[in-house]
Amino acid sequence: MRKPLVAGNWKLNGTRESNERLVQSILANTAALDGCEVMVCPPYVYLREVGLAIAGTKVLLGSQDLSVETGGAFTGEVSGQMLRDVGCSHAIIGHSERRALFGDTDSVVATKFQAAHAEGIQPILCVGESLEERQAGVTMDIIERQIAAVMQAGGVGLFAASIIAYEPVWAIGSGLTATPQQAQEVHAHIRGIIAAADAKIAGGLRILYGGSVKGSNASDLFGMNDIDGGLIGGASLDAAEFVTICRAAAGTN
Ligand code: PEP
Repeated sequence: MRKPLVAGNWKLNGTRESNERLVQSILANTAALDGCEVMVCPPYVYLREVGLAIAGTKVLLGSQDLSVETGGAFTGEVSGQMLRDVGCSHAIIGHSERRALFGDTDSVVATKFQAAHAEGIQPILCVGESLEERQAGVTMDIIERQIAAVMQAGGVGLFAASIIAYEPVWAIGSGLTATPQQAQEVHAHIRGIIAAADAKIAGGLRILYGGSVKGSNASDLFGMNDIDGGLIGGASLDAAEFVTICRAAAGTN
């Protein structure tokens, strides 16, 4: 019912040359995968070129963020309209690196979520707890707060055209991965939060897992009931690893 999605978050990495190699390898090795959707999220400056390379294929284009502003004197910002103009269908919103390093509070994230929708861009809303929060036993409280901020501002209806990524902060780029059971517990909770507002939307909502997903652990994670694919950082820069993860999501390995 929910088609898995594997999205590669390239972060602040790549050159025109390395992007071309990576994209061509992803295209060649995922074209026949019908069981999952594949997305790449390059840095802003490469969106147009990568978008042209994947044009006419099934690979989707996402941005790593977007501005709360729609236009005007906001030096350095990139609007949803601009992202749409270069072919983005999705935007990552509220990544923990943006929350921790660039001042994206719950309220900013909620505004970005709405800004994406205003341009017909599907947000991939990232939520997740820090190690201290997990150890303090408040993981579910943190997730509830992060989702509530977005839902209160925009309403549950927007989640019909949105994706959530559960990314425990302690698992991002650390080599530590949540166990499939730990991840499933949070994913089920997230679906429950949405279901409390709208059961139908919750049933169709894709909830991705992110945090040191690799070819070797992807199948076990994606085998869980409420895990509908992955948001992949480091491993998305290695074509062979990324393709293995896509195959795991598609159920072909
Ligand atoms: C991410 O930053 O979204 C992420 C999941 O990173 P990594 O896969 O490297 O942990």
